Amino acid sequence: MQKEILGYKCRKCGHVQYPYRTRCRKCGETVFEGNDIVFDTVPLPRDGKLLTYTDLYALPPEFEVVKLTLGIIELEGGQRVTGQLRVDKPQLGMKLHAEVEVVRKDAYSKNWGFVFYPA
Ligand SMILES: [Zn+2]
Repeated sequence: MQKEILGYKCRKCGHVQYPYRTRCRKCGETVFEGNDIVFDTVPLPRDGKLLTYTDLYALPPEFEVVKLTLGIIELEGGQRVTGQLRVDKPQLGMKLHAEVEVVRKDAYSKNWGFVFYPA
């Protein structure tokens, strides 16, 4: 089964935001069902462009790598997400495509996240 990262779709205007916020960034609405704040969830777009990035060293052991490049990517829907880059020479504005992969694991759990490759 292919994994997805889900965004939160406003039931009033249809804007998809990520990460979760209690009110819509576009129309400002908070939609309630009873006492619960509700959004529909939809898979986030996989394509975007690189806004900025940084190289990280001296990571905790569960990352199992010496160096990690983290980027902030603007997806085609306008959402900005953080993800790992698997790009030799990152350039700002370059087009990237995301896969959802295990980004961190220890003996008991795995964390899934976006990993970006050149598009
Ligand atoms: Zn909205």
